[in-house]
Amino acid sequence: MLTIDRMKQALRDTQVGIEDQKDTLTDLDRAIGDGDHGINMSRGFDAVSSILDEEYDSLGALSKKVGMTLMSKVGGAAGPLYGSAFVKMATKFGDATEADFDLLKEALQEGSNSIKARGKSEVGQKTMVDVWDPFLEHVKQGDDYKQQLDELVQKTEDMVATKGRASYFGENSRGTVDPGALSSSILLAAIMKEVD
Ligand code: ADP
Ligand code: MG
Ligand code: MG
Repeated sequence: MLTIDRMKQALRDTQVGIEDQKDTLTDLDRAIGDGDHGINMSRGFDAVSSILDEEYDSLGALSKKVGMTLMSKVGGAAGPLYGSAFVKMATKFGDATEADFDLLKEALQEGSNSIKARGKSEVGQKTMVDVWDPFLEHVKQGDDYKQQLDELVQKTEDMVATKGRASYFGENSRGTVDPGALSSSILLAAIMKEVD
């Protein structure tokens, strides 16, 4: 069961994970973007960790607050995408104080759909969608999703970007892992760890 406390723990772990990989995220974004993804995500999840000491009466309330915080603090392309994912997840969680595996899957699917809708993006464009969408497919199939996450991130290396800033690099975007794919895997791994 994903309780409110366990969701808070997942978000704290995400903050630590982002901090650990901050330089890598920045280096990847420097190669195929503007070099701010590590800074953006670190600023966003620092802000998220500071709202975790507050009390929340539902997973919906917590997720909504996280979404609004990410929207206002991350900035760039990724801020509105991660922000809307959590706001949409919040509508699925609603008043629930804990989520079983099925509810979590549904909420994450809402989040993924929201990223695609907002980003007007789909699988194969070398973005965070290339982690979210196939990852949820693997979860539904009952595969070993932890291992899949790393593979999905790695798979973006060979793709050519057709969305976001990396698309300006055209064919030269090939050969670098998508930074948003890596940050997404950190977040998703932290959440899934709490329902294992
Ligand atoms: P910016 O590109 O504005 O500097 P960030 O560097 O914070 O923003 O985030 C870049 C990441 O956002 C990319 O690595 C990619 O995963 C994701 N991204 C950008 N545009 C889109 C989009 N249209 N749909 C989905 N994800 C996107
Ligand atoms: Mg950037
Ligand atoms: Mg930027």
